[in-house]
Amino acid sequence: MSKRDYYDILGVSKDASSAEIKKVYRKLALKYHPDRNKSPDAADKFKEISEAYAVLSDTEKRKQYNMFGHAGIDQRYTTEDIFRGVNFDEILRDLGFGGFGGFDSVFDIFFGRTRRSRHGPQRGSSLEYNLSITLEEAASDLERDIRVPRYEKCEVCNGSGASAGTSPVKCPKCGGSGQIRLTRMSPFGQFVTIRTCNQCGGRGNIIKTPCRECHGTGRVKKSRKIRVKVPAGVDTGHNLRLKGEGESGLRGGPPGDLFIKIEVKPHKYFERVGDDIIYRAEIGFPQAALGTKITVPSLKSKVELKIPPGTQSGTIMRLKGKGIPHLRWFGRGNELVEITVRTPTKLSRKQKKLLKEFTQEP
Ligand SMILES: [Zn+2]
Ligand SMILES: [Zn+2]
Repeated sequence: MSKRDYYDILGVSKDASSAEIKKVYRKLALKYHPDRNKSPDAADKFKEISEAYAVLSDTEKRKQYNMFGHAGIDQRYTTEDIFRGVNFDEILRDLGFGGFGGFDSVFDIFFGRTRRSRHGPQRGSSLEYNLSITLEEAASDLERDIRVPRYEKCEVCNGSGASAGTSPVKCPKCGGSGQIRLTRMSPFGQFVTIRTCNQCGGRGNIIKTPCRECHGTGRVKKSRKIRVKVPAGVDTGHNLRLKGEGESGLRGGPPGDLFIKIEVKPHKYFERVGDDIIYRAEIGFPQAALGTKITVPSLKSKVELKIPPGTQSGTIMRLKGKGIPHLRWFGRGNELVEITVRTPTKLSRKQKKLLKEFTQEP
């Protein structure tokens, strides 16, 4: 399903002020909060407006979205990152909602961890993998095989947990609902308590002969080789999302995602600033005065750089296009060479004399 435009979702114009966006969100939150709106798609709608609000109320995320659309947001932030930027608890309490409509937290709504489904199909956990790469690797498209330990669907029982030739049977105690209703009489009338069925643990079915491979859980731990494509231009803190490559779900639930968290190692020569790299070169005082040629390292090979006569210490020379490729558009950053002029410390008598002569300006 393709995502709708965040501005359309909130019904505001592209240049809406942050005050206006907040006002509209509060109005929509009142309308769609699952506590107040009992229609079946209210929770989804609530999630949709909250995500739109989380992005558009954050200056950095809004800028990113305006430039690159959903792709710009999805590649850079995980869903949790998006929602974490906003104190939803505070906004919702302010609107008069005590909590989250029977949910433990706002995340439970947004990530589908509802109480209702706790014993039904459950989405597999998402995994995070820290990938450390060099600056040179960050500057070019990279493919890397990684090994990820994760739970996968048991192939022997196809995830059912029941041994070959058998299948799970409906729990006789709860009749498959996973819940047991207890009715009590009290001075105030009849009370019904609902609790999880203790015979099936809430699953609604019982495995009589568990699969030997997975001991009835339907999942087995595997170390899986996964090929990760890292686009040129990534930087420390970027998260790549591999949809469905997390752990397999429980009881037929969908798998989680795998997030590759990038760390670019510090470089021997270069300092990275955005997509530019900085190299610091030292030249002698006579070379600075008379001009010279020096060789500097670049990400690919060495580059010869002409230093014009009269170069001052602190001069920055630009090697156009020798930096890091831009992640989401064409072109590359630059290599900036910062020149430091070395002042001589040990001088011979003759050199001193020459320098003294030099101080008498022409
Ligand atoms: Zn099995
Ligand atoms: Zn049961």
